[in-house]
Amino acid sequence: MVPLLNGLFVKHNPGILPKLALLLVLTPGASALAAWLGETRPMMGTEVSVYLWSDDEYAGRRALEAVFVEAERINRLMSTYLDDSEISRVNRLAAQQPVSVGEELFGLIQRSLDVAVLTRGAFDITYDSVGQHYDFRARQRPDADTVIKERENIDYRYVQLDNGAGSVTFLKEGVRINLGGIAKGYVVERGVDILRHAGIANAIVTAGGDSRLLGDRRGRPWMVGIRDPLSEDKQQVAISVPLEDEAISTSGDYERFFDESGIRYHHIIRPSTGAPATGVHSATVFGPDAVITDALSTSVFVLGVDKGLTLIGTLPDYECIVIDGGGSVYYSGGLQTPPPTGSQ
Ligand code: ADP
Ligand code: MG
Repeated sequence: MVPLLNGLFVKHNPGILPKLALLLVLTPGASALAAWLGETRPMMGTEVSVYLWSDDEYAGRRALEAVFVEAERINRLMSTYLDDSEISRVNRLAAQQPVSVGEELFGLIQRSLDVAVLTRGAFDITYDSVGQHYDFRARQRPDADTVIKERENIDYRYVQLDNGAGSVTFLKEGVRINLGGIAKGYVVERGVDILRHAGIANAIVTAGGDSRLLGDRRGRPWMVGIRDPLSEDKQQVAISVPLEDEAISTSGDYERFFDESGIRYHHIIRPSTGAPATGVHSATVFGPDAVITDALSTSVFVLGVDKGLTLIGTLPDYECIVIDGGGSVYYSGGLQTPPPTGSQ
């Protein structure tokens, strides 16, 4: 491959020859080309993608593959769509008896409950007793009676963890948990860990609305775009943010939804009502840990602009950008309001 590429370069651009020669002298024995590698696969009801720089293309491909294998492993533990996942077993049995679970699931449930306390229940993994009745592709939603009945089962305090036994118990029949608002953040954290251990220093791992950036884009920051929620065009960017070595998560009402009689039914549920949260189009949170940015973006979406910004203001390492129902943009205190588009 190297000679072929060298040949092509030399043929079309003779001026590059001295530079290439220098490179070859500096990297004697290099077996493969350094390159940006990327791949996207449908997974976890969304898309997972990995983009990385590797000094050795073969090693880079191996690392990239390992991230997808890890995402699949976590999905098999934590997906409520799989009957034999660990979380499905919890949902079937935990109202009858304590259910022992592995450290990983236990840890993520624990972190979810911590965020529930922090957000006073705006983030609540028991939202699923109502959430399970939605099928966005089939345009199905629970009727009013089902919402009233199932709402009674939403309260994170019904989930009891026993640290010593490593078990989960539900204090009420009908309680269900779903980690859809935090597990993708965990996947991208694990993915970046795998890449780091493989010696990769520049990468992005994304799962749905959650990304973790490793390093920078080789000398430049990554430019991460936040989608314009008012545009039909999925590629339309409202705001671009330069970031390095950070996690960023966006929750929007345009990912999984259907519109009916002027109401948008989407996948982020306000636990206090059992209905989809209103007032916000998208909430984006940045910070050091994708597990937390994932849970917080869902939380800020539910809390709305004022309470959401207040919450983020109490967390020194985290910032957020909220786009409300009318398209107005709000920034948390630590972010400078950028100049209007066009003047940059
Ligand atoms: P995305 O899945 O597009 O990354 P989010 O991170 O906001 O978006 O997660 C939305 C998911 O979170 C929903 O699909 C659902 O599984 C779960 N969820 C919905 N409402 C809540 C809530 N109030 N608390 C915790 N999780 C929720
Ligand atoms: Mg989230």
